[in-house]
Amino acid sequence: MSGTTELIARHEGALIGNYGKLPVALVRGQGAMLWDADGKEYIDFFAGFGGTILGHCHPRLVAAITAQAQSLWQVGNQFYSEPQIRLAEHLKAKAFEGRAFFCHSGAEAAEAAIKLARISAGSNRPKIVTMQKGFHGRTMGALSATAGPAQNGFAPLVPGFVHVPFDNLEALEDVVDGTTAAVMLEPIQGEGGINEPTRGYLRAVRELCDRCGALLIFDEVWTGVGRTGHWFGHQISGVTPDIMTLGKALGGGVPVGGILASPRLAAYFKPGTHGCTLGGNPICANVSAAVFDVIQQENLLDHARTAGAMIREKLAGSAISGRIKAIRGSGLFLGVELDIPDATPVVRHALANGLIVNATQKNVLRICPSLVITPPQIEKALTILEKAIAAV
Ligand SMILES: *Cc1c(COP(=O)(O)O)cnc(C)c1O
Repeated sequence: MSGTTELIARHEGALIGNYGKLPVALVRGQGAMLWDADGKEYIDFFAGFGGTILGHCHPRLVAAITAQAQSLWQVGNQFYSEPQIRLAEHLKAKAFEGRAFFCHSGAEAAEAAIKLARISAGSNRPKIVTMQKGFHGRTMGALSATAGPAQNGFAPLVPGFVHVPFDNLEALEDVVDGTTAAVMLEPIQGEGGINEPTRGYLRAVRELCDRCGALLIFDEVWTGVGRTGHWFGHQISGVTPDIMTLGKALGGGVPVGGILASPRLAAYFKPGTHGCTLGGNPICANVSAAVFDVIQQENLLDHARTAGAMIREKLAGSAISGRIKAIRGSGLFLGVELDIPDATPVVRHALANGLIVNATQKNVLRICPSLVITPPQIEKALTILEKAIAAV
């Protein structure tokens, strides 16, 4: 087994440096715990950008991937196979009556949603309105939907995208019109800083879309699959979209993305209009379907809400509560805005002391552990976090 220093040197000699890195090489995980190449233990408060929604090596996911790996791998989407059917049935049972399409990532889910909106709206309605501080992925279509510095250097972008401030109905009313195919937004912004809209905003967006004949697309790549203590983030407001995009947690740590679209829209994706060679492949789909079974059978939506409330209470009652400007979010999708301009030193201090946590928008700590995290693990993690905040 190679140590951390050697792995970092080999990585730098062999991979493209497009990610900001922390000086840790991880080799093993169990539930919400991780171990690095030097044997050091960490509590995982970020779950790999939410991907490991059930932590590492959940026995039922290990069983699901093993059983499928021993029976059937990839068949091609000209054939039928049961795992993707079970996964799609979970989506329509838990979200809304719709039809699913599967791919591998959140960006590809955004591409599918954008293409479905365009093909259904027709050539006179090309406009797609998205939100400032929103995030939809790195491919050219998804990037064109993502306002801000992520676009720098990549022009020309895909035409037809307009960005407005999040949670500002008037700004949206100014741009949504008879040429608008869709409004696409996150029910709670993730990369943008865990920003929740004002009560009533999403319903007003729904009504505006309906008035203008525009579609409503919710990007649920972060908020989907139990993260917020609800199956899907839109269920907090009770506002149902026409298309929902999914990724991150959907595969429980293996790459699965997808969309769920109303049957009327789904009918526009006729054979030949869109596709994904390995999308919905039996191995990934079988794990993903098991993610839904486990969340349901282990009552993890309730646990996400209880654990999230516990984290909020403990932080609000802690010695460093004066350093916190706001705590936002739902369930185990939490943003803690600090009173310092840059939370990077907090992230590094916590890491050195055995806690993995993330910061976005410079000073918003994101607490997004797997739904299997236990109360003692949360206690220990918060002690490390509070010390890190006090130290900087
Ligand atoms: C992460 C994210 C994406 C992109 O997902 P990838 O799998 O990285 O392509 C899209 N939308 C939202 C809201 C995200 O958080």
